[in-house]
Amino acid sequence: MIIGVPKEIKNNENRVALTPAGAKELVKRGHQVYVQHSAGVGSGFQDEEYTTAGATILPTIEETYRIAEMIIKVKEPIEPEYKLIKENQLLFTYFHFASYEPLTKAMVASKAVCLAYETVEKADRSLPLLVPMSEVAGRMAIQKGANYLEKPLKGRGILLGGVPGVLPAKVLILGGGIVGTQAAWMAAGLGADVTIMDVSLPRMRYLADVMPANVKTMMSNEYNIREMVKHADLIVGAVLIPGAKAPHLITKDMLKLMKPGTVLVDVAVDQGGCIETCKPTTHENPTYIIDDVVHYCVANMPGAVPYTSTLALTNATLPYAIQLADKGWKKASQDNPDLVPGLNVINGEIVYKAVAEAFNMPY
Ligand code: NAD
Repeated sequence: MIIGVPKEIKNNENRVALTPAGAKELVKRGHQVYVQHSAGVGSGFQDEEYTTAGATILPTIEETYRIAEMIIKVKEPIEPEYKLIKENQLLFTYFHFASYEPLTKAMVASKAVCLAYETVEKADRSLPLLVPMSEVAGRMAIQKGANYLEKPLKGRGILLGGVPGVLPAKVLILGGGIVGTQAAWMAAGLGADVTIMDVSLPRMRYLADVMPANVKTMMSNEYNIREMVKHADLIVGAVLIPGAKAPHLITKDMLKLMKPGTVLVDVAVDQGGCIETCKPTTHENPTYIIDDVVHYCVANMPGAVPYTSTLALTNATLPYAIQLADKGWKKASQDNPDLVPGLNVINGEIVYKAVAEAFNMPY
C-alpha cells in the first residue's frame, strides 16, 4: 500500500503519526512510505532518519495527500486539508467528529474512509489509542503540580517529597483510572502522601493491591471530598464518565476551605473539568488564580512533550496501521474487531451512530 504521512498543521501540534522505526516496519512489509518534509522535526525526527528507514520525503502536503492510499495523521484534518482528501482514501487519525460539524460534513463530502483513533475499541471496552495520551497527561500532572507548588509560581512553597524531618506534601487524586493511576505512581515515587478517590470499589481494591504504602484509597463522595480538600497541597482532577461531561466534584465554595497556594491540575478539563472553577488554558498561559488557589487546566497536556507523546501514540497505532496496510480496511476490520467501531465515515456515509446523532445526519 502507498502510505502518506503529512506534517501536522494544527496550531502548536508537534507530534507526527509515524516514527522512523514505524516507517521501517512498513517498508519491510513491502509498503511504500511517503513522509512530508520536516513532518517529524517537532518530535525530534529528521528527514534523513526516515530516508534511512526506507521512506521517501515529499516536499509538500499536497503531494503527500495526492500519492497516498492511506494517510496516517495525529490530529483531525483542518480546513486547508479538506480539499486534499480523495474518494476511497483511508484516513487513520484522531477525528473527534461529534465535536465539529464542518469536519464531519467535509469528510462525508470527500467520500474517503475515516477510521478514528478515539473510537477503536477492545472487547473489554478499553480505548487502546486514547490510553497512551492519558498515561502522558497523568504523569505530567504531577510534574506540573510540583512545579506550580513553588512559591515564585504562586504555590504554597512546599516540596512534594519533603525532606528528612519535614513531612511530604499531600496529593489528592480524583479518579483512579489511567490518568489517576499514572499520577499516583509519579507522586508516590517523589515521596508524597497520596490519596486516590474513586467511586469504583473494584478499582480501589486493585489500586490498594498494586500501589506502594504512601498511596491510600478513599470513596469519592461530597462529604469525603470536602474533608480532604482542607489538607491537600496538590489536587489532580482525573475523573471520566464515558460519553458525558465530567461531574463538578470540587465546587467553587470548596476553594475557601483550601490552604492558600494549593494547586489544582484538572486533567479532565477536556470533558468540561471536574473542578467547577476550571476553564481550559493553553501551554502559553497555563494557570490562573481564584481565591489564592492556582488552577492549571491545559486541555492538550501531551502536546508539551511531543517526543514522548509521539512514541507513546505510535507504539499503540502502529500495529493497527500495519494491519490496515497489509490487508486494506475491509479485511483488516473483518479480522480485527477492535477496528470496526473505529470506522466513522465510509465513502460518504456516516457509520458511527453517535456522530450521526450529534448532527441529525443520516446513519
Ligand atoms: P478512565 O476512564 O481511565 O478513569 C476515570 C476514572 O474516574 C474511573 O476509575 C472512574 O471510576 C472514576 N470516576 C467516575 N466518577 C467518579 C467520581 N464521581 N469520583 C471519583 N472518581 C470517579 O479515564 P482516564 O483515561 O484516566 O481520563 C481521565 C480524564 O482525563 C478524561 O476526561 C480524559 O479525556 C482526560 N485527559 C485529558 C488530557 C489533557 O491533556 N488534559 C489528556 C488525556 C486525558
